[in-house]
Amino acid sequence: MKDLVIGIDIGGTKTRAVLCDARLNVLGRTTRPTPARAGNGAMVDTAADLARELMAGADGALRGVGVGAAGVVDHREGTILVASDSFVDWAGTPVGRILGHNLGVPVSVENDVNAFLAGEVAAGAARGRPNVLGITLGTGVGGAVHLDGRLVRGAHGAAGEIGHVPGFGDALCTCGRRGHLETLASGRSIATRYRERTGSVADAAQIAQAARTGDADALAVFADAGMAVGRAIIMVSGMADPDAVVIGGGVAQAWDVLEPSITRALVEEPPVGGHPISIARSGLDSDAVAIGACANALQLSGVLQPVDALQLH
Ligand SMILES: [Zn+2]
Repeated sequence: MKDLVIGIDIGGTKTRAVLCDARLNVLGRTTRPTPARAGNGAMVDTAADLARELMAGADGALRGVGVGAAGVVDHREGTILVASDSFVDWAGTPVGRILGHNLGVPVSVENDVNAFLAGEVAAGAARGRPNVLGITLGTGVGGAVHLDGRLVRGAHGAAGEIGHVPGFGDALCTCGRRGHLETLASGRSIATRYRERTGSVADAAQIAQAARTGDADALAVFADAGMAVGRAIIMVSGMADPDAVVIGGGVAQAWDVLEPSITRALVEEPPVGGHPISIARSGLDSDAVAIGACANALQLSGVLQPVDALQLH
């Protein structure tokens, strides 16, 4: 019987689930709104319902489930430690234990940016690369680091969290401090910086479109965002020496507008190692977190060893 896993990306607005085989081929996917206001029980029930929906009629046996969730996650216990206020009763939820009880399989729970990078390394733009920095430019900015083929966690699970490092101007960040990378490079910040310059209200996708038509303010805002991301990459390079960077999140969909200034920053201040760093847009796009959660589930359930994950495809 075929081994199957399910990866579930519990985001602020949507919960996405994908069904994969042991080689991370996507066999099915489904999405529902995240009932973030309805509390932790409703959120876990939605995840379990999506898993059952994918398994109905699936040809194979479910071996494990992976979850990628925003916030600080205790991956050993499968528990959410810290979550944003928009997720009611989410912090403290033992997601892995509840889902494992409901679905009868091992459940891996991981921070969503860590899961994003796991997906890109296993089956996406950084496939098979052992030393990779992952950056997500969404509503906020997240980061994760793989070194020597392993996710780096650090003392508190916050390794790679480049979004809230200072040195990027003086604007107020969502975390309450100033000058963080997120104040220039998140989708929300791109909209704010554009509104400050023009008085116009637009989202990052609309501003990217304006940049493509030559709007000087839109171009400047994206140039600032790209230069900031490039400088962040240089900082991480000096510490961790990745040979590849994969960038995802909604802002990366404006890759044509964003990438030139990232590359310019790397040309102006090349990493001290002297080796060029490959910069790539997410290869899995909106599936990245869920596919990464599938890769984690494969490892947890023992279907796949970590070394195999690097040799997929
Ligand atoms: Zn911050």
